[in-house]
Amino acid sequence: MPNMSLKKNEMPAQEPNIRNKNFYEVTLGYTEELAVSEAQRCLNCKHKPCVNGCPVKIDIPAFIKKTAEGDFDGAYDIITESSSLPAICGRVCPQETQCEKNCVRAIKGEAVGIGRLERFVADTHNAKAEKPAEFPKPTGERVAVVGSGPSGLACASDLARAGFRVTVFEALHTAGGVLSYGIPEFRLPKSIVKKEIDGLMAMGVEIVTNAVIGKSLSVDDLFDDGFKAVFIGSGAGLPNFMGIKGENLKGVYSANEFLTRINLMKAYKADSSTPIQRGMKTAVIGGGNVAMDAARCAKRLGADVTIVYRRTEKELPARLEEVEHAHEEGINFAFLTSPIEIEGTEDGWVKSMKCQKMELSEPDASGRARPVPIEGSEYEIPVDCVIMSIGTSPNPLIKSTTNGLEVNKRGGIIVNEETGETTKKGVYAGGDAVTGAATVILAMGAGKTAAQAIKDYLK
Ligand code: FAD
Ligand code: SF4
Repeated sequence: MPNMSLKKNEMPAQEPNIRNKNFYEVTLGYTEELAVSEAQRCLNCKHKPCVNGCPVKIDIPAFIKKTAEGDFDGAYDIITESSSLPAICGRVCPQETQCEKNCVRAIKGEAVGIGRLERFVADTHNAKAEKPAEFPKPTGERVAVVGSGPSGLACASDLARAGFRVTVFEALHTAGGVLSYGIPEFRLPKSIVKKEIDGLMAMGVEIVTNAVIGKSLSVDDLFDDGFKAVFIGSGAGLPNFMGIKGENLKGVYSANEFLTRINLMKAYKADSSTPIQRGMKTAVIGGGNVAMDAARCAKRLGADVTIVYRRTEKELPARLEEVEHAHEEGINFAFLTSPIEIEGTEDGWVKSMKCQKMELSEPDASGRARPVPIEGSEYEIPVDCVIMSIGTSPNPLIKSTTNGLEVNKRGGIIVNEETGETTKKGVYAGGDAVTGAATVILAMGAGKTAAQAIKDYLK
């Protein structure tokens, strides 16, 4: 008999007023009892609408059925047939716009907590698996993977499982891409990312850090060195700025830089010597997940934080859960507001920000109501720190150093969508480097698609 409760089981979480002062994970995960009773809400629908909403087509009803039966290993095996990073995706995937959006239980009540169950199953497995499984040493052709974000990790994993000798080249000193340098510890503990990377290395994948392809070596050098195929998963890490006066003042950061200082350079530790603005009056410009992450990190460093967004709360592109968490943690919001100038002190530090009020007009090309300035509405707010979070683009470095690699006008590498094949023979690409800033699951799916195509190419 299914559990016909209209509401999802709540996931235990740290209290807002406690968690907004620490970097420990906010949500604590289901207990076995909560997971089994949530799994019993699933109706095991024959036509599986939830699967249609999943970019990597996990057999959701099948894994949930195993969970309801208490067979968590069986559930894990089903998930990992389609997904390489379940503990990560269970935490950060926007399920409310994917699988859970299609769930029939959402017609009258709340969707089954598919993401929460995925996380429970993966965490239960990881808690038991102390050491990564042993694999035979790969002996196949050599493949280079550029970038160690979710697209690169998924591609490397599938190729290593198929026996290819894979080397991942990562520009930063730590592997993981946005999973390591961007998404904060309180949403995605780094021990989980490390476990995935350790698992990859146990499969024989070599990871070379501090290796910027396009500087240390070019893509063409990789072929000269004996690699037979190359996957580019270099992400979209180049921050966009507004182009307003004062953006080069001290105390203005891109969200990526601010988050990198916190995550990779350990500024979240109270005794860290990494330079960062602590306890300041901070404005975060933008309304996406990245803006929420930057704002919530600044709050944890003691700042009084305001998110400045030019549309209304309804149009915020961030996940609803992140917005709710930000509200609960005491982040302020200035909606229908856009900065026009940042003003500095004589010695070049941010002092204040001039803003103007906006109103919404006809929808623009993105389908969202277009914000237009209200004449005479300018006003000034005192701030000591400004974090720009208005999007990122793919870095042009690899394109500019690789013959025959074509990109579109937004800088995304042009690929065959079915295979991830680029315009250069033997070179494949996927993830944000192709699509621009998107999601972990889409990047992972693209890495898997390219891995299959590389296997076919090298056969
Ligand atoms: P990335 O994760 O960007 O990894 C690319 C890697 O390539 C990086 O490590 C980079 O250093 C390396 N690299 C770049 N150039 C070179 C080079 N020339 N040589 C060698 N290495 C290179 N998505 C979600 O689904 N849910 C979320 O909650 C979410 N939150 C986010 C929060 C933040 C702060 C950010 C920034 C993004 C978030 N995203 C989220 C988006 C998601 O993380 C990305 O879509 C995803 O990581 C893209 O994966 P990728 O493998 O394409 O690239
Ligand atoms: Fe279960 Fe919802 Fe999928 Fe139906 S749509 S199988 S209820 S998760």
